[in-house]
Amino acid sequence: MIESTRVQALQGSFAGELLLPGESGYDECRKVFNAMHDRRPALIARCASSADVAAAVNFARQNGLVVAVRCGGHSVAGLSTCDDGILIDLGGLKKMEVDPTARTARAGGGVLWGEFDAATQLHGLHTPGGRVTTTGIGGFTTGGGYGWTSSKYGLTCDNLISAEVVLADGRVVSCSEKLNDDLFWGIRGGGSNFGIVTEFEYRLHPLGPLVLAGLALWPIERAGDVLRAWRDYVDGAPDELSTACVILTAPPEPFVPDHLKGQVALGMAVMYVGNPEDGKAIVQPLKDLRPAVDLIQPMPYTVFQSLLDPMAPKGYRSYWRGEYCKGFPDGAIDTFIQHAPQLTAAAPPLSQTIIFRVGQGVAATADSATAFSHRDADYLFHPISMWQQATDDARLIAINRAFCDAMRPYSTGSAYLNFSPEDRVRDAYGAAKHARLVALKDRYDPHNLFKLNQNIEPAGGPSARLPA
Ligand SMILES: Cc1cc2nc3c(=O)[nH]c(=O)nc-3n(C[C@H](O)[C@H](O)[C@H](O)COP(=O)(O)OP(=O)(O)OC[C@H]3O[C@@H](n4cnc5c(N)ncnc54)[C@H](O)[C@@H]3O)c2cc1C
Repeated sequence: MIESTRVQALQGSFAGELLLPGESGYDECRKVFNAMHDRRPALIARCASSADVAAAVNFARQNGLVVAVRCGGHSVAGLSTCDDGILIDLGGLKKMEVDPTARTARAGGGVLWGEFDAATQLHGLHTPGGRVTTTGIGGFTTGGGYGWTSSKYGLTCDNLISAEVVLADGRVVSCSEKLNDDLFWGIRGGGSNFGIVTEFEYRLHPLGPLVLAGLALWPIERAGDVLRAWRDYVDGAPDELSTACVILTAPPEPFVPDHLKGQVALGMAVMYVGNPEDGKAIVQPLKDLRPAVDLIQPMPYTVFQSLLDPMAPKGYRSYWRGEYCKGFPDGAIDTFIQHAPQLTAAAPPLSQTIIFRVGQGVAATADSATAFSHRDADYLFHPISMWQQATDDARLIAINRAFCDAMRPYSTGSAYLNFSPEDRVRDAYGAAKHARLVALKDRYDPHNLFKLNQNIEPAGGPSARLPA
């Protein structure tokens, strides 16, 4: 418990709201996406400005509190909440300014992707971003960020021009390629290890409002031949073609034939990143694979960006992985088909395994340019287990892990940290980049105030003593 006089002193200079256990709104505010992380912070600081974030950071340091930082709360690893410490909630930092002439956007550290897309699409612009509208730009961008348009425009962090960051010592600094360039390098893939980003400035690209995009569905018996044909085609397709396949439970929607409703099936998501007319011929070979359901058609970009929202409601227990592959050979496809339907069937209707074609525009940026690694991977497979009863935890997590283990002969052994529930930091960066990240951590957060993340431990160790 924190002494109430200390909280009152903080309130004096705090524009946002401070919530203590038992107060109205506290229980709602502490919830995060993954219900497995049912934590009770000693204090929730609902910040309204960068100054509030700096005040909360100073308060945490001076009182020796564990710090959790939350934007959208979508960390499946539960890294944006804590027991006993302070939860710095960025949800009030909603600034959203678009400059259509310069094709840039400034977004507060608490903006969600649905809000970002709505504001930028008003001008026919976008930047690659989350495929679910309620994901936060904060954890997403600092961890890299794959959107549907990354095939052409790279990761979200590749489209960052500058950022305002609150450091562990409470200073508010700017960074870009020209200013504090080491910090700018680190926040593009290094997560929240070096500070809290209170404002992001992004480069925007023209897109939409209509894009050629949508979902298609096949009976599971077709999975082998469709996955092979998909791989053969997308390996040589232009970067404008963004695709993923998924083993899922077919929804009970009117557009799904009765014999597929509620059955494990193969889905495909497709977007042509460009003019829909130009995309027709590029997308056609996928439509020629004779899906039982074909919803690939011109639609607003914002509609496609929200299509997966029903698959990701808040409040389920979740175990997700994100494993990279070089290529998707026949052996990998056979193993995928052997395990993915089992994972889906074990916890319907939301559990699924997606395999994304990656590389493409992401590989266009040099590996050394940002902290983000593994740009040369061609595929990212993403088993998602979602369920409701705690008694199922061990069984369903074991199924997910067994699937990843079975795929290990075909995966690189490296993880996309934004999808990773476990500490995979060394795998994710490799030795040389990890050493550079440790040096950066030593410079910006030597006492590891920001440790609730995919943690880069400072040279002094994970729990170096905090100075007041
Ligand atoms: C439903 C769903 C859909 C997803 N879709 C995609 C997808 O399409 N592509 C993809 O690449 N990933 C996707 N992800 C993974 C997503 O990138 C990560 O979960 C990401 O961390 C979410 O960002 P957030 O702001 O919501 O996270 P939070 O849970 O709020 O925070 C996660 C981490 O980021 C840190 N953080 C948050 N905000 C800031 C900030 N402003 N400054 C510094 N650090 C910050 C926190 O300290 C914490 O360590 C998805 C996840 C979910 C649950």
